[in-house]
Amino acid sequence: MEIHQLYTHSNLRNFTYILEPEEGGLFCFDPFDASQVVSFADELGKPLRVVINTHEHWDHTQGNEELVKTFNCEVWAHENGKGKIPCVTRFLTHGEKIELDDKFSLQVLDTPGHTFAHLCLLLLRRGEPYAVFTGDTLFNAGVGNCHNGGDPEVLYETISKQFHVMPDEVKVYPGHEYLGNNLRFTLDREPSNDSARELLDVYQTMKTDEEFIVTTIAKEKEINTFFRLDNSEVIANISGDTSSEKQVFLRLRELRNKW
Ligand SMILES: [Zn+2]
Repeated sequence: MEIHQLYTHSNLRNFTYILEPEEGGLFCFDPFDASQVVSFADELGKPLRVVINTHEHWDHTQGNEELVKTFNCEVWAHENGKGKIPCVTRFLTHGEKIELDDKFSLQVLDTPGHTFAHLCLLLLRRGEPYAVFTGDTLFNAGVGNCHNGGDPEVLYETISKQFHVMPDEVKVYPGHEYLGNNLRFTLDREPSNDSARELLDVYQTMKTDEEFIVTTIAKEKEINTFFRLDNSEVIANISGDTSSEKQVFLRLRELRNKW
């Protein structure tokens, strides 16, 4: 099984992902540019079997129609995406498992907050969590906004109950490349965060829009403000109610909206 991270060069800095199981067709998450996916599949010499959309926003679904025309592939998504996601053939539910090959499978996570039709896909290797495709729920060093059909209180529940508890070694593959800006936000909130500073230094030496950093849940716990809700420096830099982790999260989300 190979994971291919395709950078789309879009203004919104979208990532599309292609999973290549040992045998059979390809799986594609969040096709932004159908022609990019078609060329990539052609290079691999394999057809696309399934498109999965993490949620209903256009920049995660606009490749659907063309890919269905080209490959006659299936399209899977959250039930609440009904009528909003083009060409859906199957609705996925929380906990459902999808076999990819002998070693790898996907487990469906229902992850509301950014929108109410949002899924994340947990990739299991021999039944153990290996990587997670997070759409616009969790980013490297950040979380999704809630401007277009979301709710920050619900996002807090999703992030704290489903992601804070995920095993450290799980790799994080988000729907957008926002790492540099998110690290700057972390450092604005918590100037003494050496781990975020070091990663930003590494990020700045890399080829822009060509090389990318893949984080893990362990790394997110170090560099993602939204995982550091009990950190004294983060709390001290927030005005207003900081009586619970939820309140800290909500204040951070507001501050990030204006960042
Ligand atoms: Zn979105």
